[in-house]
Amino acid sequence: MATLRFLGAAGVVSGSRHLVEAGGHRVLIDCGLFQGEKELRERNWDRFLVPPASIDAVVLTHGHIDHSGFLPRLAREGFRGPILTSPATADLLGLLLYDSAKCQAEDAVYANRKGYSRHSPALPLYEERDVDQALRLVRPVPREVWFDPAPGVRCRFHEAGHMLGSSFIEMELAREGEGSPLRIVFSGDVGRFNAPLYKDPVSPPPCDYLVCESTYGDRDHTPARPLDELEAVTNEALHRGGMMLVASFAIGRCQQLVYLLRTLMAAGRVPETPVWVDSPMAVDAMEVFKKHGGEHDFSEAKMQGVAESLASPFVRMAKTANESKAINNHHGPGIVIASSGMMNGGRILHHLARRLPDPKTTVLVAGFQAKGTRGRTLLDGAEFLRIHGRDIPVRAVVKKVDALSGHADRHELDRWLGTLPAPKRTFLVHGEPPAARGLAEFLRSGRGWDVHVPTIGETVDLDA
Ligand SMILES: [Zn+2]
Repeated sequence: MATLRFLGAAGVVSGSRHLVEAGGHRVLIDCGLFQGEKELRERNWDRFLVPPASIDAVVLTHGHIDHSGFLPRLAREGFRGPILTSPATADLLGLLLYDSAKCQAEDAVYANRKGYSRHSPALPLYEERDVDQALRLVRPVPREVWFDPAPGVRCRFHEAGHMLGSSFIEMELAREGEGSPLRIVFSGDVGRFNAPLYKDPVSPPPCDYLVCESTYGDRDHTPARPLDELEAVTNEALHRGGMMLVASFAIGRCQQLVYLLRTLMAAGRVPETPVWVDSPMAVDAMEVFKKHGGEHDFSEAKMQGVAESLASPFVRMAKTANESKAINNHHGPGIVIASSGMMNGGRILHHLARRLPDPKTTVLVAGFQAKGTRGRTLLDGAEFLRIHGRDIPVRAVVKKVDALSGHADRHELDRWLGTLPAPKRTFLVHGEPPAARGLAEFLRSGRGWDVHVPTIGETVDLDA
């Protein structure tokens, strides 16, 4: 008997955790943190549905915290199996999880100061030593190579084109007495086609069940090309005479942005302007990029381009907190790239607090903004934004660049699925309800597929 349980990312875009149970073994696909609205973040404190020690292995699609950020907590609660993932993801995990532990610690300090927490005193969800423990369990596995996370279960990673190291998972469950195994594909996050610096996602193989993301399942990005869209919005922002604040994930998106901005400046399409990379993690991540140049679309020439962009005298790295604060003294046009991408923490916050009241400021949103995050609040046109306990008036101009999104839209998902024969059933996860419903309708009417949008905690019998 084989079952699939949706422990997260059902009806929401965070907390990706899918548990496969077969032949008395348990394999967890992704182990993400719930992010966004408070009610969701509280779920990180719920008792894990099965004892973590009873899980044989975790198979991880990519490093984003909404897919990996619960691993240290899982290890803290007794998980000791391998964490199987691509070599690049394995190398990025250290950067990401230590940064996440730092954010947990900051949140706890802040909650104690403000006196809001259901724990007294507020504790971090996990600490550095839990990250140490989780990292000791990581086992890199190259793409396209079968591996066995548990007896009777085998998996293979394929390129997903979403970030450095990102993969989707092909899984086979052995069936007693029957020749053919049960096949499941977990999409993880699906990237874009023709994205700068990224490889295209490869198409999924035939399967009995498909578990597919639906972040942008109800819409299509504007067809503009990344360089053109970025050129227009940057020129407008610099013309306004103030800072352009770009909230960006520190790994991948940040390097891509610097590369594109420098390309525009070198071509004279955008005036030469100082660009601050305000993130120690973004600087450290460059080493991982260089090491895994072949795994992504980083041809030697492109890598050289990225390295040269970052070495340009117009690009300034702010590693220390003081270097970060010194940016506050800059007057006139400039560009700051800082994390976190959804503005729920990180150095972008102090830049927002300082510059949102200035109508000359532009805030550029370059990725998906989940419900309950400051990024979403800004996009929805809020007049005030709450930062560090203060309501900051929003007089800045808020802009969005679709072309830089890391997630496939509805038509790109359709292109990714290609000529895939109809799975017995398709489950749509990692999407807010309108997005998941939109994609469900699209797949039902366009392909005639049996599509289901699961809820958190739902269990599906795969043998049925
Ligand atoms: Zn992702």
